Amino acid sequence: MASNGDSQTKYLLSEAEMPTAWYNLQADLPNPAPPLHPGTGQPIGPADLAPLFPMALIEQEVSTERWIEIPEEVQAVYRLWRPTPLYRARRLEKALGTPARIFYKYEGTSPAGSHKPNTAVAQAYYNKQEGIKRLTTETGAGQWGSALAMACAFFGLELKVYMVKVSYEQKPYRRALMEAWGATCVPSPSTDTESGRRILAADPNSRGSLGIAISEAVEDAASRDDTHYSLGSVLNHVLLHQTVIGQEAQKQLAMADAEPDIIIGCAGGGSNFAGLSFPFVREKLLGKEIRIVAVEPAACPTLTRGVYAYDFGDTGQMTPLLKMHTLGHSFMPAAIHAGGLRYHGMAPLVSLLYEQGLIEAVALPQTKVFEAAVQFARTEGLVPAPESAHAVRAAIDEALRCKETGEAKTILFGLSGHGNFDMAAYEAYFAGQLMDYAHPQEEIEAALAGLPAVGN
Ligand SMILES: *Cc1c(COP(=O)(O)O)cnc(C)c1O
Repeated sequence: MASNGDSQTKYLLSEAEMPTAWYNLQADLPNPAPPLHPGTGQPIGPADLAPLFPMALIEQEVSTERWIEIPEEVQAVYRLWRPTPLYRARRLEKALGTPARIFYKYEGTSPAGSHKPNTAVAQAYYNKQEGIKRLTTETGAGQWGSALAMACAFFGLELKVYMVKVSYEQKPYRRALMEAWGATCVPSPSTDTESGRRILAADPNSRGSLGIAISEAVEDAASRDDTHYSLGSVLNHVLLHQTVIGQEAQKQLAMADAEPDIIIGCAGGGSNFAGLSFPFVREKLLGKEIRIVAVEPAACPTLTRGVYAYDFGDTGQMTPLLKMHTLGHSFMPAAIHAGGLRYHGMAPLVSLLYEQGLIEAVALPQTKVFEAAVQFARTEGLVPAPESAHAVRAAIDEALRCKETGEAKTILFGLSGHGNFDMAAYEAYFAGQLMDYAHPQEEIEAALAGLPAVGN
């Protein structure tokens, strides 16, 4: 616990202080609505999920144990970059002239550059334990695909990644990164699956979407005995694996003698937001006063403008129905640069917290987000991923409010990844080519009209 008093900017934990269990919020919440079988409308059981996931993950998905031990083999890989640093953004505070104290938990130190390896490593491990040889997955911007590619390399698994076509073309370096770790990557929609061929027949120029890529990856996994499917966000077990982030942050804030008034995270499917905030949601349920804010793009306003209903996780209507905030499974997002925040649904656990008023949400336009990202880079040095920049914007906005009111609040936000592979997006921003999209209400209504009858 080194301290250099008032000027300290970096709070590091030793390896011995790394969490050895994941925190399971399901132990502390009323029962979430169960996933339903898309055909029968009945709650699905473990047998329905067994073709896609290993039993250990299926058990975690429904577990109500508060603490779930992290296997030693997973901890050993985590230790390559964990515990991750917590920083106090002193230079940003000064530039803003705010009395607020701003802390950020940085997950960009992992080899893949984001929080995603926290679950990728665990998922690869449990699949390997069950004798699986090959995984399939989808990826938007490429962060999830690259995280899982690295994890599969550690555990000797093959990986096929269906990458949303618009990102496959926009982000060639992410693709190369997946290949460097040994994965195979194809643009989605592809001709390798029935779902992909169906989309291409209807629209040969389809730019793809996460919903389509999920259909392809699920179909591929379901058609082979040696193959399972892996999802990088949304599901309960994914959120669970990310809770190492918030648990570390709790200890690091204690080192700084700080208690957070406001916690902020960007939310695509909800996993980094959940990972940072769920341990603090527990504190809130135990009586602490903390505001917890999820930040999403105005172009994909899942929590703020979607409905809370049962919906498919994919466009091809193959996944179980999840009760979540959704913009409809046929949602086609604008080609904004935060590719990781373009999913039509939100994690059921995050949706439940929002429904219960335990968390708030805001939707922000991308030009304001990039403006904040650049201010952050010029004061703190790190160049945020476009996704993470949403949290940066919201944290700056809160700090500016503190400046108006004179309140010295403590703000903690999640910097979920670096933007070193996203410089094309920054280039577009500097060239004045980024546009703001508010998702049109008619399109939301049209997509919502297609919600499944089952469960709703
Ligand atoms: C994938 C990604 C996100 C969005 O996914 P969540 O599951 O909502 O966390 C956010 N930030 C970064 C850096 C990502 O790679």
